[in-house]
Amino acid sequence: MSVAPATTVHLDDRFARELPEMAVAWRAEEAPHPQLLLLNEALAAELGLDAGWLRNPEGIGLLTGTVVPDDAHPVAQAYAGHQFGGYSPRLGDGRALLLGELTDAEGRVRDLHLKGSGRTPFARGSADGLAAVGPMLREYVISEAMQALGIPTTRSLAVVATGRPVRRETVLPGAVLARVAASHLRVGSFQYARATGDVDLLRRLADHAIARHHEAAAGADNPYLALFESVVAAQARLVAQWMLVGFVHGVMNTDNTTISGETIDYGPCAFLDGFDPATVYSSIDSGGRYAYGNQPVVVQWNLARLAEALLPLIDDDQERAIAAAVEVLGGFATTYDTVWSAGMRAKLGLPEGLDDEVATALVQDLLALVQAGRVDLTSFLRSLGTAARGDAEPARLVVTDLAALDAWLERWRAVGPDADLMDRTNPVYTPRNHLVEEALTAATAGDLGPVQRLLEVLTRPFDERPGLQRYAEPAPGGSGPYVTFCGT
Ligand code: AMP
Ligand code: MG
Repeated sequence: MSVAPATTVHLDDRFARELPEMAVAWRAEEAPHPQLLLLNEALAAELGLDAGWLRNPEGIGLLTGTVVPDDAHPVAQAYAGHQFGGYSPRLGDGRALLLGELTDAEGRVRDLHLKGSGRTPFARGSADGLAAVGPMLREYVISEAMQALGIPTTRSLAVVATGRPVRRETVLPGAVLARVAASHLRVGSFQYARATGDVDLLRRLADHAIARHHEAAAGADNPYLALFESVVAAQARLVAQWMLVGFVHGVMNTDNTTISGETIDYGPCAFLDGFDPATVYSSIDSGGRYAYGNQPVVVQWNLARLAEALLPLIDDDQERAIAAAVEVLGGFATTYDTVWSAGMRAKLGLPEGLDDEVATALVQDLLALVQAGRVDLTSFLRSLGTAARGDAEPARLVVTDLAALDAWLERWRAVGPDADLMDRTNPVYTPRNHLVEEALTAATAGDLGPVQRLLEVLTRPFDERPGLQRYAEPAPGGSGPYVTFCGT
């Protein structure tokens, strides 16, 4: 196996070069006793990194930011953001670093980024700049599960335990997550650039975003309005996909809303058990701002903040700029509805060409049924695949109102649902909260077995396998009030 020295890993510094006002050169804190907990070998291969080398001290040095190539320029990125509606002009990477950009096997530019690598100049107050093993493994597991579900997301390359204790409610083992993303540009990056009052910086940021993610915008009559339109569409598609699998992000602040359209920052996120739009998991979201059913509205609010930041680039005349941006933002609903409706039709196996009204009524009536009974949507939809093949008993086990279900099943069967399409569309395995908690608790105590098994299950979510029944089921005894904590 080839053992490449760190100097042969080429990390570009395009962000830092093009946007120096938004990049502070910084180094990771030493890791006293680094221990590789998880390594994503498939992702390493995609990135042209040798997994064997990454397991060596030098590779682990790269994964913790303590040994970087000579020509690399790690930076902490500046950004602003609305957190739960309140504006913070200076957030930034308080405990993270952009090591640099890699070009993957397909020629795509990908950020290599660390989380939990120590305090930076953006760390506020007593924030320690660190992360604990549990939350970093949580991000690894859920982001890789999202990837396997076909939902745009940042990826997880590795989690390395640092050997440094981290003080939270208790003292926990510390870790660094090596994260890979199309980029780390956020709505908050644009808010930051706009707030400096430097329109040239704002323009360079927008040009950088166009070049990296929305190339078609470059050729438009108004490239910056086209950039906004492209971000609106990417976020509409993303949130529609979250809604289809019951994903609750939990902390959809503008600094956690990407320009690429990837899901980012898996803090207090969770998947729905019983279907209820008002579901909130995060302990700090007492107002329900980021409840499951509120996500499409909230992302539009975040996109309106992006529009405000872009106004000076859209038109010299502010009134005209606002009018244009408002019109573009109006397109969110169309994209969202199209993606969500197509997704729901596939989930119910509805045949192509089925009358719109019939399809819509089937979808709406099913959701009403599911919501009334707080049914676990994941297992219910999967059981409908079995019903499409003639056996409705599994579906009848999860729903309480059997008369309503039977009436619905009869209408649905009459349109000839496609069971194979349903099996390709409805996952058997999602990161169920009780399984994630169980695996993280074991890992924090030193046993990585459950996390590794969970990952194996979640990375093939549509492929039902014998012996994995407990991964397909809701928490035994029903879903208690599950709470996730932001103190990650
Ligand atoms: P997040 O909620 O993870 O999206 O982070 C929001 C902001 O808080 C970002 O600016 C982070 O860098 C910062 N932050 C979160 N945790 C820490 C920590 N332990 N030390 C320093 N900064 C942090
Ligand atoms: Mg964040």
